[in-house]
Amino acid sequence: MKQKAIQVPGFESVTHFSDKARNLNAIIAIHSTKRGPSLGGCRMHAYPNMEEALLDATRLAQGMTYKNVLADLPHGGGKAVIIGDPKTEKTPDLLRAFGDAVESLQGDYITGEDVGMKAADLLLIAERTKFATGVPKKGVGGDPSPFTALGVYNGMRAAAEVSFGNKDLSGLQIAVSGLGNVGYELCRLVHAASAHLFVSDIDTEKVERAKTEFGATPIAPSMFMAAEVDILAPCALGGAVNPQTVDRITAPIIAGSANNQLSDPSMGVRLHKKGILYAPDYVINSGGVISVAYEFAGTWTRDEVSAKAEIIGARLGEIFRQAKLLGAPTSEIADRMAESLLNGVVPTGVPSIAAE
Ligand code: NAD
Repeated sequence: MKQKAIQVPGFESVTHFSDKARNLNAIIAIHSTKRGPSLGGCRMHAYPNMEEALLDATRLAQGMTYKNVLADLPHGGGKAVIIGDPKTEKTPDLLRAFGDAVESLQGDYITGEDVGMKAADLLLIAERTKFATGVPKKGVGGDPSPFTALGVYNGMRAAAEVSFGNKDLSGLQIAVSGLGNVGYELCRLVHAASAHLFVSDIDTEKVERAKTEFGATPIAPSMFMAAEVDILAPCALGGAVNPQTVDRITAPIIAGSANNQLSDPSMGVRLHKKGILYAPDYVINSGGVISVAYEFAGTWTRDEVSAKAEIIGARLGEIFRQAKLLGAPTSEIADRMAESLLNGVVPTGVPSIAAE
């Protein structure tokens, strides 16, 4: 396997791994290990070029530093991207090669699941590295998506309380885009809370399933951000709020699981000026990383992780309160909170770090 360092200002290390024999072409970005080993999932995607893959890896890794600190975890931020189509190019050999790449970093980066990867893929990666988490094992941890969905659901309730004066989601119109691991589970929770669901996905089979199972109303992906609903939940890829969509948004709340929902920080300011309550992505979607951190520490229990995912609502409530008090965008408040925690405050109430 070939390994090449890429210099990126502000990052502890960024490494390109290539293994022609096993068809691996991947980047692992470590943003920070200040609070502990960096932790963040691996995304597999058919990036059109290396520049886009590098941009995605570094943005996601920095987001993980902020996510982990605000989730009060003893971890820094890192992320991996594998360049390739997960539907056609993912092979056991490639996954094992990726495991070798992770292992070569000697624990500075702990990997897990992200878009294009399934929990079962972690089994093959974990054959080659002990620094993998979210690995399906009987009764412990495994797929983090249900906890991510639970955190988003609680975040929605916190946002509803601010915007509508009531946490209850019943009767609200909620639109979910991306009916994948997280989005579909979120639909289940929102449906059980008696909200009316609108759904969008490029995979029409998933849309049909949601129509049948939840009585959901389909929306074309190009119309999703303009949907006239109470809550928009972007749960597909990043960049949902961008210069092309921001002026079309009428929903009073944005609360979804996708990472990097704002195409750039100025979008947070635009949402604030429009009076739209935005639940910062790396706060609302931290349920999954909480689960995998506990799993890695060897202290995972369903009750404890569910309780932590429920606290996400209260954490967002604090961000919403400060944003209102200071008249600032919620995205800026979350960044400020993360920065101040990174610059000194010792984490509390965290799982102990695994010995290995
Ligand atoms: P996934 O791959 O299981 O699902 C993504 C879904 O989005 C797929 O159904 C896909 O068809 C759909 N999609 C892709 N492009 C679309 C488009 N343009 N319009 C509508 N739908 C589209 O991924 P996931 O694990 O559910 O993660 C979803 C998002 O949440 C990602 O941004 C991920 O980074 C983020 N996230 C996931 C977790 C987790 O626990 N899985 C944790 C934190 C954040």
